Amino acid sequence: MMRALILWLGTMLKMVFKLVWKWRGHETIRILLWKITTKVLITNLFRRHRHLTQDDLCPICGLEVESILHALRDCDDAQCLWRSLVPCGLGSEFNNLDLEHWIIWNMKNSLGSFDLKD
Ligand SMILES: [Zn+2]
Repeated sequence: MMRALILWLGTMLKMVFKLVWKWRGHETIRILLWKITTKVLITNLFRRHRHLTQDDLCPICGLEVESILHALRDCDDAQCLWRSLVPCGLGSEFNNLDLEHWIIWNMKNSLGSFDLKD
């Protein structure tokens, strides 16, 4: 069971990496996507794991641990932005995906570039 899960996670990561490197967009964004998918984007959670800080809370809301997903999607300030970008009816799916599936979902749906909600 555990071996199957590890194999599945490895396959999932390979798929996300392929999508990131094939993505046709600005190089800076591709590098940001790479940092997100490899989980090296600097957040307070990342810094705490490396003993660079003892405070892993989000500096914006101060209520939750600043993980990558919190910083990019779940923080109240991020949610204000996403509410203007995510089409009605997709918010529930959008807000409940794990990081890898959320990245794939965003790359496939090109939010923020062409499909802006009025
Ligand atoms: Zn926050």
